[in-house]
Amino acid sequence: MTYSDITHGLWAETAKGKPELKMFSGEHRTEVAVIGGGYTGLSAALHLAKEGHDTVLLEANAVGFGGAGRNVGLVNAGLWLMPEDVISLVGEDHGEKLIDVLGASPDLVYGLIDEYDIPCEPWRFGTLHCADSGSGYKALKERERQWQKRGAPVELLEKEEAAQKLGTQVFRGALLDKRAGTVQPLGYAFGLAQAALKEGASLFENTPVTALNKKDGEFVLETPEGRLLAKKVIVAVMGYPEQVFDNHMKNMVPFNYFQFATPPLSRSILETVLPGRNGAWDTNLILSSYRLDEAGRLIVGSVGKVEGFAWDLKLAWAKRTIAKVFPQVGQVDMEHGWYGRIAMTTDHIPRFHVMDKDMAMVTCYNGRGIGPGTVFGKLLARYMTEGSRADIPLPISPIQAVNFRRLRGLFYEAGSRLYHFAQRRI
Ligand SMILES: Cc1cc2nc3c(=O)[nH]c(=O)nc-3n(C[C@H](O)[C@H](O)[C@H](O)COP(=O)(O)OP(=O)(O)OC[C@H]3O[C@@H](n4cnc5c(N)ncnc54)[C@H](O)[C@@H]3O)c2cc1C
Repeated sequence: MTYSDITHGLWAETAKGKPELKMFSGEHRTEVAVIGGGYTGLSAALHLAKEGHDTVLLEANAVGFGGAGRNVGLVNAGLWLMPEDVISLVGEDHGEKLIDVLGASPDLVYGLIDEYDIPCEPWRFGTLHCADSGSGYKALKERERQWQKRGAPVELLEKEEAAQKLGTQVFRGALLDKRAGTVQPLGYAFGLAQAALKEGASLFENTPVTALNKKDGEFVLETPEGRLLAKKVIVAVMGYPEQVFDNHMKNMVPFNYFQFATPPLSRSILETVLPGRNGAWDTNLILSSYRLDEAGRLIVGSVGKVEGFAWDLKLAWAKRTIAKVFPQVGQVDMEHGWYGRIAMTTDHIPRFHVMDKDMAMVTCYNGRGIGPGTVFGKLLARYMTEGSRADIPLPISPIQAVNFRRLRGLFYEAGSRLYHFAQRRI
């Protein structure tokens, strides 16, 4: 299975540079096997190959099939959590390093885009986190304080200044993060794949790893038409684990997020809608996001799926939201609607699993994977080749079932439907 309208929508239509990859077959040997062709796996393969390590990446479907090809494309700096919460959850030592490395993650993303000339609509004009209530404004003020204390270029804009940047008066203010920006997310994944190929990695699609064992000190990865022997393995299957990694679903709370895109807006309207070309989202618990693509489409998103009868509910929500937030757009149809599954943890901290001294994974970026996936792919590449001397600023944790994970997932879904339904009356 590759990309479909309901899973990859607009991104599949406009992504440039898809690599032509074959299915893996026969028996081969490599130094490092990477499983999964999203940002984490692709960045790992790229950085391993760049350092001269023999690397083979196996992707069950197609590059960017998972979250990497479905997301909003916000290249954020840092996690959802505020810096001080990160420290209280993972401790001072890991916490400070984690904040530094993820705060700088857009530098790595946009640096790779420049270095390999990746055609993925890269805009680095900052993102706007918009206050939709008094408590949202207060939380952003606190976020500003914590980041500014660390010298980050983050600034809370008051209502009027925020309105000028956003092209709407509905928010009480917005936190501008100048480190961040947007990309065409599937195009960025394609570009990482092309860069990894250029550096000498071997990449295969339509190749699920169906069994994974260790024999005589070597890993044996079974695939439908082949067998790969590897000294080391990086697992990068995140929110879309399949086959032998099915049980990893238990490790996360699934959280769906959908998006709808308008046709390209006229030049005059575009001068008034997100005129600074910032990606934006709000502080509501059931958050909404707003961004443009290079062709001038307005893309709005929120929590939930757009399958079956939910399609009409969410489509109506998207149209009402545009009418409320950007009334200058007028009546507009939607060209695309799609959704994907975000891998969350109950504390919003990603997980670092070491399953064997030569097999590891970092997973569950809680909806922030473009920067973190690229960074952790690079760090995992170092970890595999330098061992524990290579620092991954997360505590090692066991793969563990999350209590009531299905219930929590259903709670998000039901909550979003209720919210989007209730808004019909507003
Ligand atoms: C709707 C949505 C919106 C999001 N918005 C943002 C955003 O705006 N900004 C941001 O930074 N992040 C966002 N995210 C999160 C981000 O997309 C993910 O964190 C990121 O894609 C994770 O990258 P990854 O490489 O670890 O995993 P994935 O991109 O999920 O890739 C995992 C890959 O592993 C493959 N795989 C699974 N099992 C096997 C197997 N047995 N053998 C071989 N391959 C296998 C899958 O096919 C898949 O391609 C969003 C996610 C979603 C779903």
